[in-house]
Amino acid sequence: MPTLVMKFGGTSVANLDRIRRAAKRVGVEVAKGYDVIVIVSAMAGKTNELVGWVNETSPLFDAREYDAVVSSGENITAGLMALTLQEMDIPARSWQGWQVPLMTNSAHSQARIEDIPPHNINQKFAEGMKVAVVAGFQGVSPEGRITTLGRGGSDTTAVAFAAAFEAERCDIYTDVDGVYTTDPRICTKARKLEKISFEEMLELASLGAKVLQTRSVELAMRYKVKLRVLSSFEEQSDTAGTLVVDEEEIMESNVVSGVAYSRDEAKMTVVSVQDRPGVAATIFNALSEGGVNVDMIVQNVSEEGITDMTFSCPTDQVARAEKAMNAVKDAGELEFEDLLVDYDVCKVSVVGIGMRSQSGVAAKMFKILSDEGINIKVITTSEIKISVLIDRKYMELAVQALHDAFELDKAA
Ligand code: ADP
Ligand code: ASP
Ligand code: MG
Repeated sequence: MPTLVMKFGGTSVANLDRIRRAAKRVGVEVAKGYDVIVIVSAMAGKTNELVGWVNETSPLFDAREYDAVVSSGENITAGLMALTLQEMDIPARSWQGWQVPLMTNSAHSQARIEDIPPHNINQKFAEGMKVAVVAGFQGVSPEGRITTLGRGGSDTTAVAFAAAFEAERCDIYTDVDGVYTTDPRICTKARKLEKISFEEMLELASLGAKVLQTRSVELAMRYKVKLRVLSSFEEQSDTAGTLVVDEEEIMESNVVSGVAYSRDEAKMTVVSVQDRPGVAATIFNALSEGGVNVDMIVQNVSEEGITDMTFSCPTDQVARAEKAMNAVKDAGELEFEDLLVDYDVCKVSVVGIGMRSQSGVAAKMFKILSDEGINIKVITTSEIKISVLIDRKYMELAVQALHDAFELDKAA
């Protein structure tokens, strides 16, 4: 039997009624003759609630216990989805990560999938099960403890299953009807894309477009999974949504094809460090060992051998960054005067494979922002993206102005 993977995000399983609607879609594919693997997220808002409880109990939590708590939301939806399908006379069974088993490394709260042996589920398919409902976002470590795959991780569960079971397609059902030129919730002119290249999707996702988790795009690209994003609220069809495809399949492309933003950034400045070899290494080594994912970095101009080092990191890692910096200071490995934290920033980025062959995109971006009176705090670039850190109050304005100026509402 051909296999299909269908993933339903939090809003698509937010209550029993929506679970029934999702189950009906699954029923349509079962009737076509597919063995279906359904990946479910926790009900909308559930994971945030669980994360909140963990933070309130223990701000610098033990990540193993964070995973034990935060993975539980998906267990509920998996069981409810299996029951709903059974009520429709569709033979279905729920699977938690460890039961599959979905094996990961031990990087708790950010674990990577290492293997999904398909035989347990395949045996059940052979015995007549039509749908395996798998709890997304979770796995099991070599030590036998529950792990989670990072926020948005059910997308990655879905793609990894599609690869492991050689599924015909991996359909990601969500609350928008595809991938847009930017988040349609903050820019009304955002345009839905019929196709997007893996490379661009990868950049957009890693720069904050949470419609797909970055790792899921990486896996789809590596294992050639046919990946589609579509709405669980619109009529079912084989051609709906956005397909993520190889670059060669995109005929025409704008120089800039998307704008992404990330709200969850904080800017930290280590004030008055010595400007000599080894200082940057000490700072960023301590941060890395403290589990901080540093994103952008700038070293300010030095005066009399003293400089400031500025970097950005996710807001929920600020406490860890402070702990790491204070530890190197207390150990006498680094001297600095102060550690400043600015939570009121965000990152806005433009992405496009067309940038490879066209210059002047950065200059244009900076001009657009300056025309709006928006000050740029930090800049980073790569071959197909430019990112700036700006005050958070300008986020929507910046996204809309860039979307307008690069004419993303018009197809190439
Ligand atoms: P789910 O719960 O289904 O996993 P997410 O909230 O993780 O859904 O992702 C879907 C959301 O991603 C949309 O509601 C939208 O606000 C946001 N988003 C951000 N950028 C984009 C984009 N370029 N195209 C589509 N959606 C986007
Ligand atoms: N429930 C998890 C989260 O909110 C995983 C997911 O939905 O993809 O991050
Ligand atoms: Mg998601």
